[in-house]
Amino acid sequence: MHYKEIEKVVNDIMPEKCRVTKVEAEGLNIVIYVKDIREFYANDQLIKQLAGSLRKKVSVRVDASMLMDMEEAKKKIHEIVSEDAQISEIMFSPEFSEVHIEALKPGLVIGKGGTILKEIITSTGWSPVVLRMPTIPSSTLKGIRKSMVADGEERKKFLISVGKRICQNAPQSEWVRAVMLGAFREVGRSCTLVQTANSKILIDVGINPVTGEPSKAYPYLDMMGFSLDKLDAVIVTHGHMDHMGFVPYLYAYGYEGPVYCTHPTRDLMGLLQKDYLNLAKKSLGVDPPYTKKDIQNELKRVIPVEYGEVVDITPEIKMTLYNAGHIIGSAMVHLHIGEGLHNFVHTGDMKFGYTKLFDPANTNFPRVETLFIESTYGGRNDITANRRQMEDRLVSIIKETAQRGGKTLIPVFAVGRSQEIMLVLEDYYRREETGFDLPVYIDGMVLEASAIHTAYPEYLRKNVERRILSNNSPFESPMIKVAKGTDRKEIVDGEPCVILAPSGMLTGGPSVEYLNLMAEDERNTLVFVGYQSPLSLGHKIQKGMKEIPLTGEDGKTKVMNINMRVETVEGFSGHSDRHQLMAFLKNLRPTPERVFTVHGDWGKTEDLARSMGAMIKREARAPMNLEAIRLK
Ligand SMILES: [Zn+2]
Ligand SMILES: [Zn+2]
Repeated sequence: MHYKEIEKVVNDIMPEKCRVTKVEAEGLNIVIYVKDIREFYANDQLIKQLAGSLRKKVSVRVDASMLMDMEEAKKKIHEIVSEDAQISEIMFSPEFSEVHIEALKPGLVIGKGGTILKEIITSTGWSPVVLRMPTIPSSTLKGIRKSMVADGEERKKFLISVGKRICQNAPQSEWVRAVMLGAFREVGRSCTLVQTANSKILIDVGINPVTGEPSKAYPYLDMMGFSLDKLDAVIVTHGHMDHMGFVPYLYAYGYEGPVYCTHPTRDLMGLLQKDYLNLAKKSLGVDPPYTKKDIQNELKRVIPVEYGEVVDITPEIKMTLYNAGHIIGSAMVHLHIGEGLHNFVHTGDMKFGYTKLFDPANTNFPRVETLFIESTYGGRNDITANRRQMEDRLVSIIKETAQRGGKTLIPVFAVGRSQEIMLVLEDYYRREETGFDLPVYIDGMVLEASAIHTAYPEYLRKNVERRILSNNSPFESPMIKVAKGTDRKEIVDGEPCVILAPSGMLTGGPSVEYLNLMAEDERNTLVFVGYQSPLSLGHKIQKGMKEIPLTGEDGKTKVMNINMRVETVEGFSGHSDRHQLMAFLKNLRPTPERVFTVHGDWGKTEDLARSMGAMIKREARAPMNLEAIRLK
């Protein structure tokens, strides 16, 4: 719908008494400013009527001239909201007539059916935005939330420009194509361009974190055939570097548009991209392709979207994100292009199976013609054993190691596997009969990533959500100890324990430092629980390499002998195994007309495509990087 039309619809519906002063398309929302908010709330049908007619999210805010003084409003809010809510922060955002209220118990700020929210806006004029305080303090979250308010003016300008671009009359496109820019027949640097005559969208813009060589590490953006400022939107499926690690580069080279993703994905991007700036130089010996400033520019341009929300991201494309079950906030992307011209689903990374943290991936879509599906474990032999048995095996390896007086090192991604393993071990720790009572040290970004989990319990499985809400968070179990960079040697020289440290493929970070300290002692154990890229050190050790050449701090080459026990325990992956991938497609409603397998090593994508094609008796194949495929 064109902006002018929107304005007319609003003016037709809104009663004169509300005194509308402005109607704005602000990002994905239509915002109506009024002078008399009480009159607006006097008729509870108005908001439904507006949303129904505009088919967009509608916010009604109070005109700046009618807002209560900030100090006074702050006092008022404390009066209205019960102390039990434990408000930790109140920040005003005058550009938006909004007040951001962070509390440990947001439910008590909202009130039954939103009654307290309504009381806040009608008595102060400020529209409350309620945020959950994490139960573990998080500097990432704090920084991002502060900047949303501090950079209000810039953000407002940006959102208005996005809103203008989206609210135009939808042009009719006659074709749709996808261009494969990264992570085709490989894992890493995920990037797919979806293009029509009138829209250009990137789904994921990742890096390959195990290499610093630009031709292998970054997606083929230079082959898009247009400059970055011509892009309409970027969608990020989830907060892993191989899906979002290259997004700030876009802002360094001319892109100024939005990034659509969930709230947790935004926060993880901020956390891991900043960490990568340090890591790139140290572990890969390369200069990072972007700076801290580019990351800040990116974060300011994130437009968070909830699962299941249908949003217009260009005049002709509607996007909906669905739970992917992979890590917190991970999403599958559904695009509805044109008036029924084409429907497209990209799974991103996806788990269609049991994990302690998440519900399995969604399988119901309104329509699907083309499916892009990940194939990390798509090979015919990628079948994981019974999960319960694998948990028992992991714990008995740890116990055996402790009995010998050794320690167990588990290299993990900071986000995803580390939390899953923490929950597994915490479960054994709580059940006394298991006899598991070792301390579990977490290092690097694991703590900060876990803290982000505690701010968004609604993204987790119901029982984990309940535990966080009732102040019994598994991430804060007494078993968990936080390692500070300096005492790594002390931990290794100390009593038996478990160490969870990133990176998960031993490509740098604390896990490599621990490996250095632990490898030669045969009492210790190294356990792999996640995917190891063929280029990584983890893969080499997993395949039995015993002598690892290393460059010491003095620049001389020395050899690290792997005397420690090396084990792989599968089944904790956030990726679907072969059976789960096939089951996902079988359960998918409706069945797609064609399937493309992505995000898997060369043979696995092909293998999976063959089997999927045979199962649904439709086209299925594994495209290569740089292919362009016409979908419609
Ligand atoms: Zn992932
Ligand atoms: Zn991935």
